[in-house]
Amino acid sequence: DLPTIFVVTPTFKRFVQKAELTRLSQAFKSVKNLHWIVVEDSGDKTNLVANFLRNSRLKYTHLNVRTPDTLRRHKNEKRRSKPRGVVQRNVGIQWIRNNIDPHRTPGVVYFADDDNTYDSRIFDEMRWIKGVGVWPVAFTGAVRWAGPVCKDGQVIGFHAKWGLFRPFPIDMAAFAINIKKLLIDFPKAEFLSPEKAGMLESSLLTQITTIDELEPVTPNCSKVYVWHTRTEVPKDSIIGERRMIKQGTPS
Ligand code: UDP
Ligand code: MN
Repeated sequence: DLPTIFVVTPTFKRFVQKAELTRLSQAFKSVKNLHWIVVEDSGDKTNLVANFLRNSRLKYTHLNVRTPDTLRRHKNEKRRSKPRGVVQRNVGIQWIRNNIDPHRTPGVVYFADDDNTYDSRIFDEMRWIKGVGVWPVAFTGAVRWAGPVCKDGQVIGFHAKWGLFRPFPIDMAAFAINIKKLLIDFPKAEFLSPEKAGMLESSLLTQITTIDELEPVTPNCSKVYVWHTRTEVPKDSIIGERRMIKQGTPS
């Protein structure tokens, strides 16, 4: 059987949310056996996300968990001091553990943030990963692209201008994991909330693999299929909306 790709996406309410989810859903549309696990950072499931998913024609699971205040970034803290989407990704992993039998449903899990840009071809590249697969991601590591440098099916180094001190100097969008790793081999592995910037990926990967074991894809880490784009806050729309007299809103 064609292995399933479980895509775990943390998401939160903001002006651009539906645009982000639309861009993602269109990259997922043509991919076979893709199961989208959307985890809202919220105490409740919102109607916007529920309706969006219902109309998406994708196979999906809609979950929610609010980031506890202790893990939230407060006004005076630096942007990078608290990683985001941590409890949401762990809830996604836990859902797979509770609901999927990896012997009956082989698959890989991928953590796809809602603001990145994905070429659909990445999913067929990651589908056949046996352990942990890796590839480059653009606009991370303070360079045009950062991530593994590969040769003959092995990771031989990492390319980046920032973050090479990390045990796994790669972005969240740069790897996928065979679910057997997380369900059978390491059933307790999860993301931690490291205080040090950039350590979130390593906090999980050090529990389940080593650099020698990484499987290069795209192939041999030769292509960029994921861009770590960050969406600009549409300030004019937000300010204008506040001043506007409500006349009904298109959905
Ligand atoms: N996110 C979240 N709650 C928040 C902020 C972000 O669930 O309060 C999600 C966001 O939608 C994205 C992921 O966590 O899918 C990573 O957040 P972001 O893109 O802001 O992080 P960065 O790319 O700057 O590391
Ligand atoms: Mn992002």
